[in-house]
Parts: sequence; structure tokens; C-alpha cells
Amino acid sequence: MLSVDQAFESILSTVTAATVARVSLSQASDRCLAEDLTTPHDSPPFDKSMMDGFALVAGPQSDTLQVLETITAGTVPQSVVRPGTACRIMTGAPMPAGADCVVPIEKVTFNENDPTTVHVSGEQLLAEKHVLRKGASAQVGEPLLACGTRLAPQHIAALAEFGIAEIPVRPIPKVGVLATGDELLTFDQPLTPGRIRNSNEPMLISQIKQAGAVPDPLGIARDNVGDLKTRIAAGLKNDFLVLTGGVSAGTLDLVPAELAAAGVVEVFHKIAMKPGKPLWFGKLQTDDHTCYVFGLPGNPVSSMVCFDLFVTTALRQFCGQSSVLPAFRTVQLADPIAVRGDREVFMPCQFEVVDGVIRATAVRWGGSADLRSTATAHGLCRLSPEYSEYQAGQTVPAVIWSWS
Ligand code: AMP
Ligand code: MG
Repeated sequence: MLSVDQAFESILSTVTAATVARVSLSQASDRCLAEDLTTPHDSPPFDKSMMDGFALVAGPQSDTLQVLETITAGTVPQSVVRPGTACRIMTGAPMPAGADCVVPIEKVTFNENDPTTVHVSGEQLLAEKHVLRKGASAQVGEPLLACGTRLAPQHIAALAEFGIAEIPVRPIPKVGVLATGDELLTFDQPLTPGRIRNSNEPMLISQIKQAGAVPDPLGIARDNVGDLKTRIAAGLKNDFLVLTGGVSAGTLDLVPAELAAAGVVEVFHKIAMKPGKPLWFGKLQTDDHTCYVFGLPGNPVSSMVCFDLFVTTALRQFCGQSSVLPAFRTVQLADPIAVRGDREVFMPCQFEVVDGVIRATAVRWGGSADLRSTATAHGLCRLSPEYSEYQAGQTVPAVIWSWS
């Protein structure tokens, strides 16, 4: 059985980044940049005023200055400023030649009825004050964004500023979702004897969307070869196929055999972790298509944890993201926790910041079917079987979902 770290390594060496496409800036949000980009010009592209005020020459000079013109943003100054003169200037407007500082309008005496002069008494005229020089933020040819950056609003803004209209990105992965099980009802059906609702499909759709991918829900496959075959075939048209259930040792756990029959080659089956032991991972490779397949355990919390750790890693790798593995943060256990058995445990916990340290408290968790308790958790603490008895105050790695 693979360790959790071996499973991560196996996924990283199996999944390759998708082919690069070029999209318009309006389509680029949340996509992963597929090349390093440099600045095509200086920023700002001209010397500009950072204030509404008067552009003038720094240093001692007469109090009353002659106003040569008013420069608004988007226009080009016509005058040359010398000692004794100034230009009225607006924020974002180009600096006139000769001027090297801007005095804000609030700090001068200026009469709109006599706009030909301005009084700057008592003002310290410091060179470069409120002036942003051409290239001060970035010079042409400097690094702008690194390959693998997932494009967030600040990156989109930077691309727009530099007029980069066609962006090299990796495609958004499409992920088939197939729940399996004779016992499953849809979430809007009333419970009947022996049946439970299919909570995994809505959960996985939500996780897929959160990961920036597009879900393709394939409904519920019943535990028979015919139904599985048809739905697996449909699901394999996606970049990824995520199934739940049917990967353990039950008599109706038919998923691994049906995936093999469909040509999916097993990469690994079973991981030394709790929850999530039955996880199955494989790859379908045909001449013109690749599909990565995860057979997640049926138990909802196992399914969720396996997606959170492994499917997201595979998705990030496929998207060419620079940071691929889950981000583990160091947290401090509030209470002692015992680890039984020889598998790593991913324990649903609540977090709070106490004296600048993230303290973790395990939720009252009833195991891999206990969604209610998991819904109160803020993330997962990673506990190793090397410590059978964790002490209060001991630090451990944790995946943090969110807490507020
Ligand atoms: P299995 O791996 O198919 O034996 O399923 C393990 C456990 O998870 C069983 O108790 C199933 O009833 C439950 N289970 C399987 N699929 C789902 C699902 N889609 N939603 C909720 N529970 C499920
Ligand atoms: Mg089942």
C-alpha cells in the first residue's frame, strides 16, 4: 500500500500539463499562465502627476507663479515650466517639461476667477514630490508574470495595463462525476428503507468548481456491469473522471474491473491513510485522448478528503500551475490526540488563532460517514502513526479550508 507522499509522487509523475491555448484577456481569469511574460513597455509610460495641483520647478522661487496652462489626464502638455511659472495639473496627467514636482491644490492659494496665477507661499517645493516617473513601477523587459500563475484579478489587471490581449494558458479541465451504488437516491427524493441519498455527487461538483474545473455530472451508476460500462464510457470523454464507491472489497465493488475493461490502466489502488484507504487512480491513454481517473471511496468524508488532497493536485498539475501540492500550514494541537493503527490520519478540525498561533481542535468526528461533524470543521490535521499519542501544544501540518 502506498503512503500519502508516495501517492502524491505517483500523481505528479503520471499527470502531464495540458496543451497550451491562447485566449482573450476576458477569458483568462482563473486560468494558469503557460509562459513567463515580460513587460512590453515602461510603467507608467510617461512622467505623471499623482495629485491634482500645480506642476512646477522645485527649489526657492517667488511666491506668486504664472500659470501657463491646465493639463488634464489624457492630454499632452504644451508648455515648458521654468522658475516663476507653473502648470495646473490633474492626477494622471503627463508632467510638463521643466517641472519636477507637484504641489497639491489644497496647499496653494488659487482663485478660480483669476486662474493665471497661483500663490505657493510657505510650501516646501521638494523635487520629485507627487511625481511618478516613467518606468518607476516597471521598465520594459522586466518579469511581469511567471508561467504557472493562476490568474487572479491583480494578474488580469497587470495584463490589461500592458496591453497583453492574447494570453497563453492551459485549458480548464472537464471532470466527469459518476456516483455508483444501488442504494443511492437523489438528494431531492424521500428516504425509503435501506436507501441513502447521493451526497457525493453534489459535493464533488462543488469541489470541482472550487478547483476551477468544469464538472460533467453523469448521474448514478447502479452496481451492475451494463450500467457502469455505459456511464464510464461517457465519463472517459472528459479530461478527468471521478467516480465514487465500488472500489473496496464488497461483492458489488465492480469499479476497478470495469475501468480496466474500458482500457484505463491502474496506477495505484489503496493508500495508507484514514479516511480514504480504498482510493484508486489510473490513466486512459488513446491516440488522441488522455483521461485521468480517480475511483474515490464511497464514504462521503473519505471521498471529500481524497478529492481535496489528490484530485486537486492532479488538476493543478494538468493546468500547469506552479504550486501543485496541497498547501500544508503548521498548526498547534489544543488537546492530546491518539492515533490508532498504522495509517496517517486526516482529522477534521476547527481552527482559531490564539496569540498568533493557529490552534486546532478536533471535531467530535464519527468517522468517514459523518458528514454532519465534518461540516463543522475548518480543515484537516495530518497525523502520523509515528506518534501514537500527540500531546497538547504539539505542532502538525494541516490543510485549511476556511474559517470565519
Ligand atoms: P462503497 O465503497 O460503494 O462500498 O461505499 C461505501 C459507503 O459509502 C457505503 O456505506 C455507501 O452507501 C456509501 N456511499 C457510496 N456512494 C455514496 C454516495 N454517492 N453518497 C453518499 N454515500 C455513498
Ligand atoms: Mg457501493
